Amino acid sequence: MGSRYRIRFAAVAQFAEPTLGKKKKLDAQQQPPVQPQPPNRARSSRSRYGCEECRQSRVKCDETFPICGRCTRRGVVCHAATRESQWQLHLPPSSSIKDDDEPLLHHWFSTTSQIIVSTSADDNPFSYPIAQYISPTGSLIHTLKSISAAHQNFFKPRGLQRCLEERCKALRAFRQELVRGEQSLQCSFLTAYLLGISSSYLDRYGVDYGKDHLLAAHAIVGLILADDTARNHPLTHLIVGAFVYWDMSCAFLVDTPEQREIGTPLLDGYITDTMQQVFHPITGRCTGLFYILCRLGRYVRRVSETADHNSVLELQFERELLEWDDETKEDPMWTQTSHAFRSHGLIMLYRFCGRSSNYPGSPLPAYTTEGCFTTDDLVRNHAVTTISSLLCIPLASRHLCLQPIPLLTAGAELTSDDACLRQEVRSRFKALYSFNRIPAHLAAEELLVSLWELKDSGQDITWLELMLLKGWRLRVG
Ligand SMILES: [Zn+2]
Ligand SMILES: [Zn+2]
Repeated sequence: MGSRYRIRFAAVAQFAEPTLGKKKKLDAQQQPPVQPQPPNRARSSRSRYGCEECRQSRVKCDETFPICGRCTRRGVVCHAATRESQWQLHLPPSSSIKDDDEPLLHHWFSTTSQIIVSTSADDNPFSYPIAQYISPTGSLIHTLKSISAAHQNFFKPRGLQRCLEERCKALRAFRQELVRGEQSLQCSFLTAYLLGISSSYLDRYGVDYGKDHLLAAHAIVGLILADDTARNHPLTHLIVGAFVYWDMSCAFLVDTPEQREIGTPLLDGYITDTMQQVFHPITGRCTGLFYILCRLGRYVRRVSETADHNSVLELQFERELLEWDDETKEDPMWTQTSHAFRSHGLIMLYRFCGRSSNYPGSPLPAYTTEGCFTTDDLVRNHAVTTISSLLCIPLASRHLCLQPIPLLTAGAELTSDDACLRQEVRSRFKALYSFNRIPAHLAAEELLVSLWELKDSGQDITWLELMLLKGWRLRVG
């Protein structure tokens, strides 16, 4: 699949200079001359990227992103103005991307695509590099425009009209492509993946997590790995990591009768042999850890409903999690993030399966040598350590999009003695929403507040049980 488009980036006149050096490297020969800056306007109290909250109160916003100073102090969500890329998409005359498509695609490339990766914008394969897989009438272009349109309006129900129009077109085109076999497996995966993950962004009731798309994507990944040519395609690494992370974020949500095991010998082999070697824009070098959590999530969900335990499997999960070796030692924030996910797994395992074992290789000597620790002590300890570690990661960090899952699991274990940490977890969820606008992060905060109330009144309940009681299938990843 070759590149069908040549895309030029041109400086937008009024705010061109800050990233010129970087983009020049990308496309040096195509750079148009930088336009002169417009004359300085008198600085008004209405800042360019000021947030909605400051605007409404008619005060100057300090424009700290993703959450401004005033909103941080007030503990509220910050609806900041969109910061579009400082570059415009310039399509050659032969390009079949229409002018009408440009604003939404531009928003996708520069802003929306950033909410799904844990890498910088320049290394984001879902940004400009995805353009080469777009066909003007295909499902992918409508999918990108659909998500972009909703993201511009913070995925709010009253701003979804354009999004839903594009989504209908995407679904119609996708069905035709599948029936006629018109699309490559790689493009089909990208469409299924993006339609699937965005299902949860669009559902205000927290019920739709994109189950059908997840099942379709699982089948497509199987077909890719089973075919030598498809397996060696440059997108396969991206696809497998994206799929594993997505599946992990849904692992607790799939109702037990509908569960299908994710593991196949081909997927096992690809993750062991290939995923650990190359850094992935979503999962880093932690795809193997997320893959354990995919299986654990299904198991825990089953146990929560059937109380049917398999102690051998539980011991194996504990061993796999405790022995997980983080290979991203060059980046302490990746280490913190992977430890948080490991704790997320251990907390869920201990909470639902009890402390069935004292795994001998445990790197947590306090728990293994002092057998008097109760399960509650153990999980609270994991929770406090995890949250403290996640809160150390700054809000401007690219690791932010990986925070909600461990934050929810660990946050749920905080007790009434942890009032300050509870408040910080709430603030972090608001900041996460301010950053990526995904409504599930506000719902997760709401879920935690109800959970803490119940637990403080003496009820023994987990976040998963409360979520199921509410009828939600909240995908927060
Ligand atoms: Zn503000
Ligand atoms: Zn604000």
